[in-house]
Amino acid sequence: MSQKLLDFYKQNYPLAYNYQVESCSDGWLKLLEPSLKSIQEYNTKNSDHQMIITTIKEKYGTLNIYMNFSNDEIDELNDAAEKLSETACESCGEKGKLKQFRGWYYTSCDIHIRK
Ligand SMILES: [Zn+2]
Repeated sequence: MSQKLLDFYKQNYPLAYNYQVESCSDGWLKLLEPSLKSIQEYNTKNSDHQMIITTIKEKYGTLNIYMNFSNDEIDELNDAAEKLSETACESCGEKGKLKQFRGWYYTSCDIHIRK
Protein backbone atom coordinates (compact mmCIF):
# COMPACT_ATOMS: atom_id res chain seq x y z
CA MET A 1 0.00 0.00 0.00
CA SER A 2 1.29 3.44 -0.83
CA GLN A 3 2.15 6.11 1.67
CA LYS A 4 0.38 8.62 -0.57
CA LEU A 5 -3.01 6.94 -0.12
CA LEU A 6 -2.46 6.52 3.62
CA ASP A 7 -1.61 10.20 3.94
CA PHE A 8 -4.72 11.10 1.95
CA TYR A 9 -6.95 9.10 4.30
CA LYS A 10 -5.22 10.43 7.39
CA GLN A 11 -5.72 13.98 6.23
CA ASN A 12 -9.31 13.66 5.01
CA TYR A 13 -10.71 11.23 7.57
CA PRO A 14 -8.64 11.77 10.74
CA LEU A 15 -11.34 10.30 12.99
CA ALA A 16 -11.90 7.27 10.82
CA TYR A 17 -8.27 6.61 10.14
CA ASN A 18 -7.34 4.45 13.07
CA TYR A 19 -6.79 0.92 11.96
CA GLN A 20 -4.30 -1.73 11.03
CA VAL A 21 -3.88 -2.87 7.48
CA GLU A 22 -2.93 -6.42 6.68
CA SER A 23 -1.93 -7.28 3.16
CA CYS A 24 -4.29 -5.07 1.25
CA SER A 25 -3.26 -3.02 -1.77
CA ASP A 26 -4.27 0.38 -3.09
CA GLY A 27 -6.77 -0.96 -5.62
CA TRP A 28 -9.04 -2.12 -2.83
CA LEU A 29 -8.31 0.62 -0.34
CA LYS A 30 -10.01 3.01 -2.73
CA LEU A 31 -13.20 0.98 -2.18
CA LEU A 32 -13.10 2.00 1.49
CA GLU A 33 -13.62 5.68 0.95
CA PRO A 34 -17.45 5.69 1.34
CA SER A 35 -17.08 3.74 4.61
CA LEU A 36 -14.36 6.09 5.90
CA LYS A 37 -16.53 9.10 5.08
CA SER A 38 -19.48 7.69 7.08
CA ILE A 39 -17.30 6.58 9.98
CA GLN A 40 -15.81 10.07 10.12
CA GLU A 41 -19.34 11.56 10.26
CA TYR A 42 -20.42 9.12 12.97
CA ASN A 43 -17.34 9.77 15.09
CA THR A 44 -17.75 13.53 14.75
CA LYS A 45 -21.24 13.27 16.32
CA ASN A 46 -20.33 10.59 18.90
CA SER A 47 -17.09 11.64 20.51
CA ASP A 48 -17.49 9.30 23.49
CA HIS A 49 -18.25 6.23 21.38
CA GLN A 50 -15.74 6.03 18.56
CA MET A 51 -16.19 3.57 15.73
CA ILE A 52 -13.01 2.13 14.27
CA ILE A 53 -11.99 -0.26 11.56
CA THR A 54 -9.80 -2.73 13.41
CA THR A 55 -8.55 -4.75 10.46
CA ILE A 56 -8.65 -4.66 6.69
CA LYS A 57 -7.42 -7.72 4.94
CA GLU A 58 -7.56 -9.91 1.91
CA LYS A 59 -9.12 -13.34 2.48
CA TYR A 60 -9.77 -15.93 -0.24
CA GLY A 61 -9.29 -13.25 -2.88
CA THR A 62 -11.72 -10.70 -1.50
CA LEU A 63 -11.60 -7.71 0.82
CA ASN A 64 -12.64 -8.18 4.46
CA ILE A 65 -13.33 -5.29 6.81
CA TYR A 66 -13.57 -5.72 10.57
CA MET A 67 -14.95 -3.08 12.95
CA ASN A 68 -15.04 -2.69 16.75
CA PHE A 69 -18.78 -2.10 16.23
CA SER A 70 -20.90 -0.61 13.45
CA ASN A 71 -24.39 0.38 12.40
CA ASP A 72 -26.64 -0.52 9.46
CA GLU A 73 -25.29 2.27 7.29
CA ILE A 74 -21.64 1.28 7.77
CA ASP A 75 -22.48 -2.43 7.40
CA GLU A 76 -24.09 -1.69 4.04
CA LEU A 77 -21.11 0.36 2.85
CA ASN A 78 -18.63 -2.29 4.00
CA ASP A 79 -20.67 -5.05 2.34
CA ALA A 80 -20.73 -3.03 -0.88
CA ALA A 81 -16.94 -2.56 -0.74
CA GLU A 82 -16.41 -6.28 -0.09
CA LYS A 83 -18.75 -7.14 -2.96
CA LEU A 84 -16.95 -4.74 -5.32
CA SER A 85 -13.60 -6.34 -4.42
CA GLU A 86 -14.79 -9.57 -6.07
CA THR A 87 -14.50 -7.88 -9.47
CA ALA A 88 -11.82 -5.23 -8.79
CA CYS A 89 -8.08 -5.73 -9.17
CA GLU A 90 -6.43 -5.62 -5.74
CA SER A 91 -3.40 -3.82 -7.18
CA CYS A 92 -5.01 -1.08 -9.28
CA GLY A 93 -8.78 -1.17 -8.72
CA GLU A 94 -9.60 -1.80 -12.39
CA LYS A 95 -11.97 -4.57 -13.47
CA GLY A 96 -10.61 -7.94 -12.36
CA LYS A 97 -11.42 -11.59 -11.78
CA LEU A 98 -10.76 -14.13 -9.05
CA LYS A 99 -7.62 -16.09 -9.88
CA GLN A 100 -5.40 -18.64 -8.23
CA PHE A 101 -1.61 -18.60 -7.88
CA ARG A 102 0.30 -21.35 -6.06
CA GLY A 103 -2.79 -22.21 -4.06
CA TRP A 104 -3.62 -18.60 -3.10
CA TYR A 105 -6.73 -16.84 -4.32
CA TYR A 106 -6.46 -13.26 -5.50
CA THR A 107 -8.41 -10.87 -7.68
CA SER A 108 -6.63 -9.05 -10.46
CA CYS A 109 -6.87 -7.50 -13.90
CA ASP A 110 -4.89 -8.98 -16.80
CA ILE A 111 -1.96 -6.60 -16.20
CA HIS A 112 -1.41 -7.56 -12.55
CA ILE A 113 -1.73 -11.29 -13.03
CA ARG A 114 0.78 -13.26 -10.91
CA LYS A 115 3.15 -15.58 -12.74
ZN1 LIG B 1 -4.59 -4.33 -11.97
